[in-house]
Amino acid sequence: MSATILKIIPTNSTYAPEAILQDKAKTFLAKFYENKQIEIDTTDAIQFVDQGANFDSVFCNFCGESIEIKDWQNAMDKAYEKQFANLDFTTLCCNRKTSLNDLTYDMPAGFAKFQIKILEPIAEIEEKYLKELQQILGTTLRIIWARY
Ligand SMILES: [Zn+2]
Repeated sequence: MSATILKIIPTNSTYAPEAILQDKAKTFLAKFYENKQIEIDTTDAIQFVDQGANFDSVFCNFCGESIEIKDWQNAMDKAYEKQFANLDFTTLCCNRKTSLNDLTYDMPAGFAKFQIKILEPIAEIEEKYLKELQQILGTTLRIIWARY
């Protein structure tokens, strides 16, 4: 059986909102995702927040060239050794400095110390509610659809 998880993370990989704001966010989301399991995770180290089986490819965020999976994997392995504290990545296509967090993932993925997970959400979060959630948490957010 496959599972779908809607993950919501800050766009800034090092940001974790205060506990009180996390509670507010959970209460807010529980209004739309009634009877759905909502989990909030905060970790000391940055985690790769993956999209599971929705992983297809990775592209340069500057020129749109696709990035070889083996190059990306090498960079991921190196970054993992330092618990993703350093996400620097230099693109081979256009030789520019970027971050593993800023590359274009198809479908989206990211890095975070804080994540909200909604299990089998059915519906997408509406734009206006996402904006409200961003205000509650004091950060811009990234939506990740994961399938396992
Ligand atoms: Zn490029």
